[in-house]
Amino acid sequence: MKGNKLFIVLICLLTLVWLSASVELVILFACHDFCTAGELFAFLIPNKYEANDISTYILRFELPYLFLLTCCLVGVGVGIWYLTRKLTPPRVFFAVLITGALLAPFIIPNQPCCLLREVIVVSRQILKVKRNKDNAKDFLYPISKSQNIEETKEVYIFSLGESLRYHNLSLNGEYKRDTNPLLKKQRNLYLFSDYYANATLTQYALPIIFTGVKGEKYETHFNRKTLAYPFKEVGFYTALISNEEQLLNNGLHDYLTQDFDTLIWVENDSLIAPKAQELVKQKHKLFIVTHFLGNHFLYRNCPEGYRKWLPDYNLTPRASSDSLFINAYDNTVLYVDALLNKFITDLDEEDMICSLLFISDHGERIMKHFGVHGHTYHPTKEEYHVPLMVWYSDEYKDAYPQKVENVIKHKGKPVCADHVFWSVLDMAGIAINGGLMNEMSIFSDALAPHERTLLLPDGKSVIKLDK
Ligand SMILES: [Zn+2]
Repeated sequence: MKGNKLFIVLICLLTLVWLSASVELVILFACHDFCTAGELFAFLIPNKYEANDISTYILRFELPYLFLLTCCLVGVGVGIWYLTRKLTPPRVFFAVLITGALLAPFIIPNQPCCLLREVIVVSRQILKVKRNKDNAKDFLYPISKSQNIEETKEVYIFSLGESLRYHNLSLNGEYKRDTNPLLKKQRNLYLFSDYYANATLTQYALPIIFTGVKGEKYETHFNRKTLAYPFKEVGFYTALISNEEQLLNNGLHDYLTQDFDTLIWVENDSLIAPKAQELVKQKHKLFIVTHFLGNHFLYRNCPEGYRKWLPDYNLTPRASSDSLFINAYDNTVLYVDALLNKFITDLDEEDMICSLLFISDHGERIMKHFGVHGHTYHPTKEEYHVPLMVWYSDEYKDAYPQKVENVIKHKGKPVCADHVFWSVLDMAGIAINGGLMNEMSIFSDALAPHERTLLLPDGKSVIKLDK
């Protein structure tokens, strides 16, 4: 009787390990690498967009692998049953030994395919956010505004893109497809050529950018207020306008939105510029953060009229072409070009000091049958080489000629997401006393060399990007 119970426990344990092994193998076959904590995050804190896209993707591309693995599982199960059907101790021992040896790589924590370790990592991360989200309550920034231009209207925008990589912008002068037909005509718009993200997942990139901590000190961000706070302190009205399917609306990261005067969630990216324009008409001193859904996998965020490169995965998913995904991606880049251009054109029509800093949170790795970010502990450059763009109105140039000169001077320099917090404040002439404004702002004359690092999907390890 005792032997029977032990046998059942053993079979249950083996089944669990088999299940995690099958998840790892399916992801390995379909996406060329094992599952990471960052990916599990998308399942544990799901939003409508990711859940929908991931399930669509799994059904279409991973189903054949799942079928094969199920056949293997059934085969192994029958084998175990055959060996142990009389439950003689040597047979049970023999079956467990073989299965254990086969599955060992999936249960040893230092192996890249150990799913359990990634589950523990992501659970800890979520718990940490829940425990620490109120830490910054009493934090204070010693702030000053460098110029007193109270009578003039001032609007500053920090705009966040999603999964947009530098390589696919024709604005870079090298990409052959004309993905930026509108932005390339904008005056006063500069694209930085050597800007790197600090993480390959939104849930790590945003907290760092919003609070100005360095990537390797990700967890210290809980102790700091976000960049909306200094703006508020010097009299600005602060607003966040975000696609409702983006990270800050997931219920877990709401602590990053607490410093804003107003939060506006919109159903799609095309509503962001009009909502911003409404605020621009009402407020004299305004700071807006916008968060687009942009170029997120499966590249569905693109109206019909922008589907220029065909076949596009979202129109003809079963078409026989190696370019299905890159075409779909580039079509979303074309759409983002139109969105940003409209945003800037509307702002330019107003008579005010205004500037906009745009970055993408991370890039994207696009292959024949999928696109992905944050999927690996060995990210490729396309996952972190992303655009940083600065646009300013003529009135801004008149008010801050030195800052404009500095931005143009620095646009080829190596910079990264660690610079964003300081640059957004400095763009508006706001200084944090004792802060890193001088050395870390792209608007500063004294921008200093800085070691660029990338936070990996465990939210802890970093790699150096300038070797
Ligand atoms: Zn993202």
